[in-house]
Amino acid sequence: MTDRELPDHLHPDTLAVRAGVARSQYGENSEALYLTSCFVQPDAESSARRFASEEEGYTYSRTSNPSVTGFERRLAALEGAEAAIGTASGMSAILLMAMGLLKAGDHVICSQSMFGSTIKLLGSEFGKFGVETDFVSQTDVAQWRAAVRPTTRLLFAETPTNPLTEVCDIRALAAIAHDAGALLAVDNCFATPVLQRPLELGADLVIHSGTKYLDGQGRVMAGAICGSQKLVDGVFAPLIRSAGMVLSPFNAWVVQKGMETLSVRVRAQSANALEIAQWLERHPAVERVFYPGLPSHPQHALAMAQQDGVGGAVISFSVKADHPEQARRRAFHVIDSTRVCSIATNLGDVKSIICHPASTSHGRLSEAQRLAAGVVQGLIRLAVGLEHVPDILADLSRGLDTLA
Ligand SMILES: *Cc1c(COP(=O)(O)O)cnc(C)c1O
Repeated sequence: MTDRELPDHLHPDTLAVRAGVARSQYGENSEALYLTSCFVQPDAESSARRFASEEEGYTYSRTSNPSVTGFERRLAALEGAEAAIGTASGMSAILLMAMGLLKAGDHVICSQSMFGSTIKLLGSEFGKFGVETDFVSQTDVAQWRAAVRPTTRLLFAETPTNPLTEVCDIRALAAIAHDAGALLAVDNCFATPVLQRPLELGADLVIHSGTKYLDGQGRVMAGAICGSQKLVDGVFAPLIRSAGMVLSPFNAWVVQKGMETLSVRVRAQSANALEIAQWLERHPAVERVFYPGLPSHPQHALAMAQQDGVGGAVISFSVKADHPEQARRRAFHVIDSTRVCSIATNLGDVKSIICHPASTSHGRLSEAQRLAAGVVQGLIRLAVGLEHVPDILADLSRGLDTLA
């Protein structure tokens, strides 16, 4: 069935429920799920043309699948990107980007506060292939500029970061990248396109873990790269066809449906997070709260300008203690005293999730890498969900009140 074309200039809230719909001949209103590994071809000639990319049409789900295409189109519309490509997970999106853009001898500049697995992948694994990565301060623009070399191909940032919610200036980093003839990629997992659209601020690529807010209900793994049609069609699509880290149609379908409620979830969860962050900041057992929506956050003004005036739904806070061992015990006590929050390492779920970054997400880093990322033993990360705020406050009080 041919769909009536959507008008131009629709609001993102409309695109979130309407973009990327391709109805079958049955005219289903809810997106169909195409759970098939291959596609029957009309004839051998047509099959040959499709394999040579001379004719539109699906052949094999490692190359593409209508459910994956639906997800890609919806995400591209929300990010204001020409194109997007789905991947098996957020990390495989980063792997695909790095494999597609970098070769031996190339240089990457990366924030030292990136997601733990990103630091591991670029810092250790890609080193084996002759790619050099320098890790610099998330917030000190001068360090990014000073790290540029003639071989620099990529600047990679994440904002706000996990777990300390440090914010970087996307416009300033884009200018440094472009002066150096390099690309800027931004991991937009925490802010999501609801709050922040990096391509509009000058970034060349956006990385997503669909596992987080895009799905929103913690069901599946997914990832994506958003960027120009030229890079997606010319570099990433041919590479994923060879390398195979494709997004499963089922996961694509789940995340595409999840995006329909992205805006309401992110805004409601962020409003809850602001209230909880303000409460934590007043608690006597809490040493420090890291949340971009608080005026005490070092990049509060930048965050508000860059993130549509909203701090996001992830908070980190440290408990007061005299030494690291005590800090770790106290953090564990607060986490173990919760009854509502899930003890897990995910985020972006409608269920609030609490974790201890130093022993989980950042547990594989060396002590030096961990401290460079500011992940101390007393630090707790809370990814705020949709529960009633007083219930979460009571959950945190149970452990915190016995420390103060
Ligand atoms: C979770 C996460 C990733 C990795 O995504 P997966 O889907 O778990 O592979 C990358 N970046 C950030 C900021 C994340 O939070």
